Amino acid sequence: MIMADSKENTNKDCGFATRAIHAGQEYDQWSNAEIVPPIVTSITYYQNNPAKMECHFYSRMSNPTRDSLERCLAALEDSKHALVFPSGSAAVTALLHLLESGDHIVASVEQYGGTRLLLIDSAKHQKMEVDFVDSQDVNEVEAAIKPNTKLIWIETPSNPCVKMSDIAAIAKVARSREGIIFAVDNTLLTPYFQRPLELGADISMYSCTKYMNGHNDVLAGALMFNSTEFLEGLQMVQQKYGSILPAFDCSMLNRGLKTLSLRMEKHCENGVALARYLEKHPKVVSVSHPVLPSHPHYELAKKQTTGNCGLFAFRISGTVYEAKKFIQSLRIFASSGSLGSFSSFAMIPVCVSHTSLTEAEREKFGIFDTTIRLSVGIENVEDLIKDLEQALDKTFK
Ligand SMILES: *Cc1c(COP(=O)(O)O)cnc(C)c1O
Repeated sequence: MIMADSKENTNKDCGFATRAIHAGQEYDQWSNAEIVPPIVTSITYYQNNPAKMECHFYSRMSNPTRDSLERCLAALEDSKHALVFPSGSAAVTALLHLLESGDHIVASVEQYGGTRLLLIDSAKHQKMEVDFVDSQDVNEVEAAIKPNTKLIWIETPSNPCVKMSDIAAIAKVARSREGIIFAVDNTLLTPYFQRPLELGADISMYSCTKYMNGHNDVLAGALMFNSTEFLEGLQMVQQKYGSILPAFDCSMLNRGLKTLSLRMEKHCENGVALARYLEKHPKVVSVSHPVLPSHPHYELAKKQTTGNCGLFAFRISGTVYEAKKFIQSLRIFASSGSLGSFSSFAMIPVCVSHTSLTEAEREKFGIFDTTIRLSVGIENVEDLIKDLEQALDKTFK
C-alpha cells in the first residue's frame, strides 16, 4: 500500500512513476481531502493571528497549488528543492540572479538559441562575461575557466543532433575550483532518462513547456537543486521579482507529470524505431541518433543516460527544396518549431531554429540544408513510419 497520509511523506523509497503520481499530492493537505490538488486562485489567505502572518498569506510568496507541484518535481529529481517559473527562459533568468557583475560564465556553444541570446543579453546588462565553448570536449571547458568564473552552463544532449557533454567529467572540473556553480539544461531527457544532480551538477534546469508537461498547452520552467543557499537567492526571484507560474498552469503541469514515465518510454521506443528505419532508406544520407553506433556519443549515451526522448535529426539527399517538399508532404508529423509533445513534429533547423548561426557553426554542429529534426510523439509507430515513407516517396518521385 502506498502511504499518502502525511504531508511530510514524499514517497522517497518508491520508484519514479509512483513518485510522479503521489509525491506532493497528499489529500490531507486540502480541506476536502481532494485527490487531485485544487487550483487555488485566491491570492490572499485569512489570517487567524492578525499579529503574525502564517503559512500562505499572499500568492506571490507561496501558493498551495504551486507548492504541491514543486514537491512533486523535487521528488522526481531526488532533490531537496524545486522551484517553478513562468517559462524555461524565466528559470534561466532566475538562475542568472545567483551571479554578480564581474562574474564570468562558461557555456555550451551548442545549445537552445533562446538561452544563448539570453546569456549574451544578460551578460551585457549585468556586466558579466560569457564564453561559449564546445562542452563536448571537457578540456575546452576547463581551459575556458578564469579566476572570476562563477557559472558553467551546459545543455546536453544538444538539439537537433543529440550530441552529449560528459556531466560527471565537467562536474569534476567545476569541483576542482572554488565557488563555481555547475548547471545543466536537462529539458530534453527529463529526470526520467538523465540525472544531472546525481552526476555532480549543482542545478538541473527544465523548460517544462516540453516533455515535463508534454501536452503543448503550458509554458513553464523549473530549477532543481540541493543547496539552501541557492534556495534563498532563487526564491527571491519568485517572491521579490514576481516570476510566478499561475496556479492554473501549475495544475496543468502537475497533471502532465503523472504520465511522464509512460510518455518518455514511448517517445524513446518510437524514436529508436524511426531512426533504424531511416538509416536504411536510400534517400537518407545520415541519421544522428545516439542509439546508432555511428553516433559520436554512442558510448557516452550508454553511460550517462537511460534512454532518448525521441528527438533526433537526419539528413536527406538533395537541397533545401527537397527538405521543404518533404516537410510539406508529411500528414501526421506537424511542421512545428517546438518539441516534446505527445504529437509528432518535424522541421528544418536551418530555416527555423538555427537561423542565427553562421554556416561554419552549423556545419560544425552537423546541421546542413537538408537536415530534418523530428520530435517523435507517442502515436502508433507503424503510422509514423508510413508517414515518413510516403513523404520521402513524394519528395523524390
Ligand atoms: C524550449 C527550451 C528552452 C526555453 O524554454 P521556454 O519554456 O520556451 O522559455 C530552454 N532550453 C531548451 C533545451 C528548450 O528546448
